[in-house]
Amino acid sequence: MRRLTLLLVLVTSAFLGFSQEKPLHGINPNDIDRAADPCQDFFQFANGKWRAENPIPPSMVRWSRRWSAGESTKNVLHDILEDAAKNSAKAAPQSTERLIGDYYGACMNEKEVNKQGLKAIKPELDAIHNISSAADLTQVITRLQQEGIFVPFIFGSAQDPHNPAMVMADTGAGGLGLPDRDYYFKDDDKAKETRQKYLEHVTATLQLAGYDKSKAQAAAQTVMRMETALAGASLTNVELRDPHATDHKMKIDEVQKLAPHFDWRPYFQALNLDPAVDFNAEEPKFLQELERQFTQTPLTDWKTYLEWHVLRAASPNLSTPFVNEDFAFYRQYLAGAKEMKPRWKRCVESTDADLGEALGKKYVEKVFPPEAKTRIQELVKNILLALHDDIETLTWMSDDTKPKALDKLAKFTPKVGYPDKWKDYSSVKIDRHTHWSNVREAQKFAVRDDTGRIGKPVDRGRWGMTTPTSNAYYNPLLNEIVFPAGILLPPMFDVTASDAVNYGGIGPVIGHEISHGFDDQGAQYDGTGKLQNWWSDADYKEFKTRGQCVVDQFDNYTVEGGLHENGKLVLGESIGDLGGVKLAYLAFQKSLQGNPQPAESEGFTPEQQFFISWGQSRGDEVRPETQRQMVLTDPHPIGKYRVNGPLSNSSEFQKAFHCKAGDPMVRPPEKKCEVW
Ligand SMILES: [Zn+2]
Repeated sequence: MRRLTLLLVLVTSAFLGFSQEKPLHGINPNDIDRAADPCQDFFQFANGKWRAENPIPPSMVRWSRRWSAGESTKNVLHDILEDAAKNSAKAAPQSTERLIGDYYGACMNEKEVNKQGLKAIKPELDAIHNISSAADLTQVITRLQQEGIFVPFIFGSAQDPHNPAMVMADTGAGGLGLPDRDYYFKDDDKAKETRQKYLEHVTATLQLAGYDKSKAQAAAQTVMRMETALAGASLTNVELRDPHATDHKMKIDEVQKLAPHFDWRPYFQALNLDPAVDFNAEEPKFLQELERQFTQTPLTDWKTYLEWHVLRAASPNLSTPFVNEDFAFYRQYLAGAKEMKPRWKRCVESTDADLGEALGKKYVEKVFPPEAKTRIQELVKNILLALHDDIETLTWMSDDTKPKALDKLAKFTPKVGYPDKWKDYSSVKIDRHTHWSNVREAQKFAVRDDTGRIGKPVDRGRWGMTTPTSNAYYNPLLNEIVFPAGILLPPMFDVTASDAVNYGGIGPVIGHEISHGFDDQGAQYDGTGKLQNWWSDADYKEFKTRGQCVVDQFDNYTVEGGLHENGKLVLGESIGDLGGVKLAYLAFQKSLQGNPQPAESEGFTPEQQFFISWGQSRGDEVRPETQRQMVLTDPHPIGKYRVNGPLSNSSEFQKAFHCKAGDPMVRPPEKKCEVW
């Protein structure tokens, strides 16, 4: 295995133009805070100096080497898009170059966007103003949903968890302007302040749209009243972690009965859907609340609500006053950003969001060497093998359940870098002139592309993230782990870095995604993606007990403003982190077997380098406002606990750094958590 690794590195070195003798580089010694004790606070030790020297840039809400790499990727995309915009007139109509060039060019034309102002969304606003009957209301909601403005409910395609080879229709709760349903009910001072700020934001936006102040204030109250009622009928994000809670497969007539005043048949017709398909109503209670609102809320209030949501969706793409007002609430007040990203970067992000696979194709042609793909595939294979070995030797799982866990593991599909088949955007109407109409057309394509799958067999080639994205995911219904090219960059991964760096960087990310297949949610699906129990009762009970240990551990971590992490909310991610770092370490150890011990680097053993690499690649500094938002909405704990949480359960880590009982990085035996 070791020889193969070296061979690959040599090929890659030649590709990158390095001499073959150039040694592989190690961890970043300058990032380490040598004054910190790794057994007290490893997060501080591994990357404290980097964070001290690299404060969060004003336009960002989190910062680390990884976030920095993600922002650098946008420079690459910027070059691609500037080039495409300059040359788009020469490109063939509807070609990738033409589409991304014109989209980006129109977005960058701030003068035209400002000149258009509110006129850009006149078609949507006119349609709302002309509503005069319940039938009109249904029609306008349908139209907005076709443009990707999903209020007051969510609709789309979903794999059938009882027959994962097929795709069904799915509707869920939605229609809120605050980040989560809990924001409408929490009782502390900060939550009350946030609701007040939201009212002010809705008021200010409506004033920009021509309302006078008192009318705008009254309208904001209407929005708050309607959204609070919808929020009250929505499941909490902890309840949503249980896949059974949202599993209500039925047919259109049964969904119709839950909310008789929203007519689904014309909706299906407008989306070109067969009304005979299976249809999952994720939250029947929410549909019943919608019914109540359809019968009791006056049409004028509905019109106010819809107008607000069109403005909310469009604001980042409208003229400067709308952009500023949107930024001030969502990015500045809620997340803590100090200033807006430059326009070119927002236009890059918008192109990635709307024409992601067209831009992504150009991106990988430019930056992603085939050698990287081969190397990652090898790491994935080794870490899957590590879990295989781990399951075989688990003491808490019985021989009844083990073969089933191994069967699920054998059915994992890894996807690395970029899709084999790219989306075809040639039906999207993009022009060089009006930015919002491009966003609208791209959104319409996204909705067609998604809903067009309903009633058909699943297409296993699709990707849920764009290629330049600095992230990864597990999808339980496809039982697949996916690593876009955008995360396969330093500090996570580098073809010129040592095994300790790569196993410690991207390794735990790979292990994390694999472990999601066996977290509180993933463990409820089998290897084919079916929501079906494969555990013995006793083993599942033990699995839950072990999960509860992680819940308790994270419940005790505090963040900004005395808030606590919500252990139940972060359970899946924390099982992922705990399993991820262990599996990557096992795979790293196995790669060393039978080979000469690698050299120390900067006085650190290979094992220490592995953990330092992990601490450095996860070393996020997070703005207080974003910490608060994460605790309420994000299933991921903040960076500090993603590093210190799993490592304080890891005997391998403790051994590598000679930590002793009683050290903060050593949880006492009775509190030590281990799932995988
Ligand atoms: Zn995850």
